[in-house]
Amino acid sequence: MMRRMMAVLAVALALACAAGCSKGGDVAVDKAKLAYYADTWEECRARFLKEADDLKRAYKGVEITAIPMAADKGLTIDACMVPAQKGQTGLIIVSSGVHGIEGFAGSAVQRMIMRELVPGMDLATTGVLFIHIINPYGMKNTRRVNEGNVDLNRNFDTDAKLFAIKNAGYPVIRDLLNPDEKLSTWSPGYVFFPVKAIYYIVKYGMGTLRESILRGQYEFPKGVYYGGKEFVPQKAPIEALITKSAAGSARVFVMDLHTGYGERGKMHYFPNPITIPKNLEAAKKVFAGYTVDWGDTGDFYVTTGDFTDWIEKLFPAKTVLRMTAEYGTMDSQTTMGSIRSLKITIMENQAANFGGKSQGDFDEAKANFREMYFPSAPEWRSTIMQQTAAEFPVLFKRFGELK
Ligand SMILES: [Zn+2]
Repeated sequence: MMRRMMAVLAVALALACAAGCSKGGDVAVDKAKLAYYADTWEECRARFLKEADDLKRAYKGVEITAIPMAADKGLTIDACMVPAQKGQTGLIIVSSGVHGIEGFAGSAVQRMIMRELVPGMDLATTGVLFIHIINPYGMKNTRRVNEGNVDLNRNFDTDAKLFAIKNAGYPVIRDLLNPDEKLSTWSPGYVFFPVKAIYYIVKYGMGTLRESILRGQYEFPKGVYYGGKEFVPQKAPIEALITKSAAGSARVFVMDLHTGYGERGKMHYFPNPITIPKNLEAAKKVFAGYTVDWGDTGDFYVTTGDFTDWIEKLFPAKTVLRMTAEYGTMDSQTTMGSIRSLKITIMENQAANFGGKSQGDFDEAKANFREMYFPSAPEWRSTIMQQTAAEFPVLFKRFGELK
């Protein structure tokens, strides 16, 4: 066991170096693209409404909707629906901020699409719905979850049986995941966190561990990746909005924007496995030539309560192409990268639920968390925009051509 552990440690350290050495400093920064980024939910929202207004002037029938969040005074989910201009047969949904804080990048990307990509799209029979920041509380409060510690991307389904799902692997590693005391960033648990994590990796295997942690859990309300006990309040109004927007469309393509998972500065297409043949066929056509993690690699994990899965379930009679776009930030595909991400995730959850031993502990946890989901590096911010601007028009065009 000890020898195996040392071997894993050596590999992990080598990977850490590889990750640390590839900072992507040779990426040319596109200043015009950086201008899309804003630092608060309020500013992102105001700028989204401005783009929506411009679209309203340019196209027929554009509808701008605000869904107020009752629990969070002043916070709203905003939407802009640009209907097909001559009889709609397909709908593209671009959504952001299901994971709160990830919406800083998501909002910027959405606004870039609205301003730069929509004008080049063929909107004769395809409509586009932008849903801005599905979890505004999380974005406002530097969290991935809502005020009830609920991860919204573990909370969406057509069937409330979701909340009875038991994640058998989770309780086994709770000791690693959810320290239930005030956060001290220099506690032995965190200083030796990588060693502890590697012990668990050796004991259970990386695949099992990743799946147990990330798939979602419904039993520990203060734990990470908690999916809640009931559907979040935004589910019903979002369902009404999507159903209305998709009326008459035989095909729906949902692109849900996230940050975090995967190689830093790289776009990853990362859906839960698509099992409905007509939907898989559509996805394979639209994404032909692009790297998609279809669920056949070791890095893969399946989650429950996924937002895009829910949209697929809402429309069994339609062809639904669902995709999660992840802009990688921490090289979480490497062992050390995933240990680092997990540590930052656990620290933030502990700080939010139990507070910090000092303000410094709390602030450090929050700052690391924000940097993980909304990197400050201009290279990162620029490159994810460039990849989006290069790839989405191709995907949207192919979707429009589906029969
Ligand atoms: Zn996410």
